[in-house]
This record gives sequence, structure tokens and C-alpha cells, in this order.
Amino acid sequence: METTDARIKIAIQKSGRLTEHSLELLQQCGLKYSRGRDQLIGFGENMPVDFLLVRDDDIPGLVREDVCDLGIVGMNVLEEKRLEFRAAGQDAPFRLIQELDFGHCLLSFAYPENGAIQSLDDIDGQRIATSYPWIVKDFLKRRNVNAEVVEFSGAVEIAPNLGRAELICDLVSTGSTLAANKLTQGETLLESSAALIQTPVEIPASKSEWVNRLLQRISGVQQVRESKYIMMHAPRSALPKISALLPGAEAPTVLPLEGCDDKVAVHVVCRETVFWETLEQLKEAGASSLLVVPVEKMLA
Ligand code: ATP
Ligand code: ZN
Repeated sequence: METTDARIKIAIQKSGRLTEHSLELLQQCGLKYSRGRDQLIGFGENMPVDFLLVRDDDIPGLVREDVCDLGIVGMNVLEEKRLEFRAAGQDAPFRLIQELDFGHCLLSFAYPENGAIQSLDDIDGQRIATSYPWIVKDFLKRRNVNAEVVEFSGAVEIAPNLGRAELICDLVSTGSTLAANKLTQGETLLESSAALIQTPVEIPASKSEWVNRLLQRISGVQQVRESKYIMMHAPRSALPKISALLPGAEAPTVLPLEGCDDKVAVHVVCRETVFWETLEQLKEAGASSLLVVPVEKMLA
């Protein structure tokens, strides 16, 4: 029986926009789990990996303090906490392992439609409502803008209507919340997605093998999502042209075709999205019997 010290702990968001994607990522890494009765911990059944379900704002701190070995959280939260920790004299609180392909959003300024503020040039002396005071203050300082930051923990977009601020700085993905509150999107401070972080403390030998395996699997899952395996027949003479058309491909495998001297089979893994246009261009270049299949697992 393993001791709990040898089990890896990952902090993920308990309930929110990152929860389902984070759990799906762990499942795609092969993790099978059961949830504790209080639903706050997931116990890995086939790997020494457990996860803690917490508020996303708590994830950087849990990883920094080495309560959790890894964490999945938005770059926006990471940057906010990084600045906060830095102001407290704590540099390098966590290691950024990789950005992930979900949780995309922008941290942007937004102004009341048809109001006096139309750009950053107009915000001197104004009040900005935001849940990201450290990022906003840092940005204003670097731009030499003198504006007041009013911290809101939620529902930032109603602050101008409440008369609490003249403008806001908040996360935007589709822009529908801004539109519903009659706000126009302005300058963007940060482009964000979810990210995987690791404790700054050295992983003990008892855990390092599984941490490395997990990191490799997460990286593999990320690569695989866009990747496709393409098969086709092609005249030998068209090979250079065909290779040039394949998006993000490594060297293709070229195989002989029985009873056919001038044509070969070409197999290749493409690490980028394969569009219909690409297939049409391949056909024009002489390829036939084109087949595109999804890749399920990949280990570099
Ligand atoms: P918690 O209760 O965990 O504190 P929360 O309300 O802070 O939850 P969510 O709204 O679930 O957080 O968002 C979590 C993360 O999802 C954000 O920090 C951000 O990285 C990402 N995200 C993606 N799109 C959006 C969006 N349109 N609005 C807000 N967050 C978004
Ligand atoms: Zn939060």
C-alpha cells in the first residue's frame, strides 16, 4: 500500500468554467477516479494521483505552498497572484509547465456605450472596477496612467450602472455579457487560457516518476487534439509538392503499392487542423484515396 506522501495531488476548479475540461484532461491521461462523499477530493483508482476540488483563486496558493504538486488554473488568475506574491516579496511562486487548449478569454477594458470614455486616453482620474486589481494597477503604472482601481469580487459589469466606476476591466470571451450591459470592449491587457502549474519545491523521488508520466501524458493529449493521421495514394513525382501542403507534418512514411510502380502510399501525422481546402489542394497535386483519421494517443 502506498503512503499518502507518494500520491500526487492536483488542484482543479471545483465548479466553474474550467472544471469539466480539467476532469476530461485527467481522464484522457488514463485516470480513473472516484469522488469522496463530500465531493471535495477525487481519488485516483489506477494511478497514485488524487485531485482537490477548490475555488480557482485558491489554486496558485495551494501549489505555491506545496499542498498540491500540480494545478490547473487560468493564466489570468496566475498573473494576478504572481503580482500579488511578488509584492509580498515572494518571487517564482510556481512553475508554469504549459498552457492548455481550453479556458480561452481576454482580460479587457470596457466602457459604457456612447459615453465620454472611448479609449485609454480618456481614463485619467477615472475609476476602474475589476476583480484583477494587481494586473490593472501594473498595467496603468507601465502606461503612466493615473486612474483609481475599485476592487469587485464579481458582477463587475454592473459597476458603471451602479455609479461605482466609470469603466471596467474584466474577462471577455463572447462579448455577450458586455453587450447586455451596454458596454463596449476596449484595449486588452491579457490573452488567457487555462494552464498547468507545478510546485516550486522539488518533487520527491517517491513521486517524480508518476509526475513525469502525467506531464508527458498531458502534453500528449494536447498534441493529439489537433492531430490527424492522413493516408493517401500519390504519384512518386508529386511527393515534394504534397509534403509542402501538409500542415505541421513530420517526414511522411512512403510505402510501395503492390503492382503499381509509379504510385506510392503516403502516411503522415499532421499536428495542425486539416481543412477541406488542404485535402482539395492535395487532390489537385495528384493525391487520391485520401483518408483523414483522428489520433487517439501520442507519445513523443
Ligand atoms: P470560482 O468559484 O472557482 O472562484 P470563478 O467565478 O472565479 O469561480 P469562472 O467564471 O468559473 O470562475 O471562470 C474560471 C476561469 O475560466 C477564469 O478565471 C478564466 O480563466 C476562464 N474563462 C474563460 N472564459 C471566461 C469568461 N467569459 N468569463 C470568465 N472566465 C472565463
Ligand atoms: Zn474565482
